[in-house]
Amino acid sequence: MAVAVSNMDFPDPDLRRHKRQMRLSGWGIETQKKLKNAKVLVAGVGGLGCPAALNLALAGVGHIRICDDDSVEISNLNSQFLHTEHSIGTKKTLSARATLSSINSDIAVEPISYKITDENVDDIVGNSQIILDCLDNFSARYILNQCAIRKDIPMVHGAVWGMEGRVTFLYPPQGPCLTCIFPMAPAQQEVPVLGAVPCTIGSLQAIEAIKYLAGSGRTLIGRMLILDCSTMQFQELEVPRNPQCPVCVGLKN
Ligand SMILES: [Zn+2]
Repeated sequence: MAVAVSNMDFPDPDLRRHKRQMRLSGWGIETQKKLKNAKVLVAGVGGLGCPAALNLALAGVGHIRICDDDSVEISNLNSQFLHTEHSIGTKKTLSARATLSSINSDIAVEPISYKITDENVDDIVGNSQIILDCLDNFSARYILNQCAIRKDIPMVHGAVWGMEGRVTFLYPPQGPCLTCIFPMAPAQQEVPVLGAVPCTIGSLQAIEAIKYLAGSGRTLIGRMLILDCSTMQFQELEVPRNPQCPVCVGLKN
């Protein structure tokens, strides 16, 4: 179906840039405006965060806050494509912002170069409407999970191990929180990775966030998608709330 291509509130460059996605069923200018006015936190701009942030920027999400305290190393360049050889030694947030802004200069990309802690998490999340958990450690994931519950915003969890990846949409009480699914943190160790796997999972995380912001489609609330790239099999697991979960126990269905 054709979309009207004139609107006083929407600049022509945006219309030209996004005209094909505005042709999606039920989309149009009004949905594109929702994305333009949206605020999203991408926690981590590594293997998952690079494709997640890129796809948000491509879709025209107007305010992307990226948080990471690491600097770019050459070992990151097998997967983390927002960074280049020229950005080795610089903060990942600054490197990622430069690339994202060069692709879409109409959006605001806000770098926050801090490690997420109990003390700063409320400020880091701020008034974001949704969190993309693209982190590589469970201690920070749990801190974000608790903050998301306090602020009543959803969090899209993504993770990879070797050729396997998973993604789910956490928004209790409609579905589980991170602790419902993972009551104990797995042992922290360096994860083997083929770059295309986090690239795929991070992109799926962005799609979940975009659907939520657009108010279209069906998210992965209560479901976890497991992708085994070694056999190219997708599996969907039901992930219920844990009624004894110590983190989201106070929330009523
Ligand atoms: Zn829970």
